[in-house]
Amino acid sequence: MKYFDEIEKNALSRHIPVMQKEGIEFLIQIFKDHHCHSCLEIGSAIGYSAMMMASNIDDFEIETIELNEERFLEAVKNIAENGLNDQIHIYLDDALSFDCQQLIHQQFDCLFIDAAKAQYQKFFEKYMPLVKDNGLCIVDNLDFHGMIFDIEHIKNRNTKQLVKKIKRFKDWILNHDKYDVEYHQVGDGICVIKRKEKR
Ligand code: SAH
Ligand code: MG
Repeated sequence: MKYFDEIEKNALSRHIPVMQKEGIEFLIQIFKDHHCHSCLEIGSAIGYSAMMMASNIDDFEIETIELNEERFLEAVKNIAENGLNDQIHIYLDDALSFDCQQLIHQQFDCLFIDAAKAQYQKFFEKYMPLVKDNGLCIVDNLDFHGMIFDIEHIKNRNTKQLVKKIKRFKDWILNHDKYDVEYHQVGDGICVIKRKEKR
């Protein structure tokens, strides 16, 4: 496995929530097992997860959307410096209003949602149609540092609201009749979502 330890350390020191090592390794294994070759990522931050995927999975392309300009510019630099321009295409935009016509691919093997947690359902509903019939969607941070299991004891009001929204998404998707969901207690909680039937 190729790692970008400097970039990871540097991100964590500035509280940029890049994927935990355990989580990204798990994700890469799932993509390999499912023979995925294309991914749409929501939330690039400084490009760490996209670079990990592009460097560790054969014949893999990623399109990724980031809202924050400073992070976007840093991602562009990291991607270029590591020779990954052919594999990673990054867009500076709010994924909620992003025009999907700009994407190079119109169908992806997988969707990876790792952006604003309160909006997970909106991201899912907007982008799941771009996933192939037998493709998958992966959602990160569904445990929110374990807080999701003990909502009543969260003191901070905003945090409580956010954790409630994450729980609402988790309950919604776990009970959805069109999707099969596997929940994995890896990293900060990862869901693997697949369609039950072809469209
Ligand atoms: N996937 C990255 C980490 C992403 S952190 C990695 O593991 O390396 C989450 C990112 O989502 C943040 O940088 C944040 O700016 C971005 N984000 C939040 N809301 C967004 C939105 N509506 N559209 C696009 N990006 C968003
Ligand atoms: Mg995350």
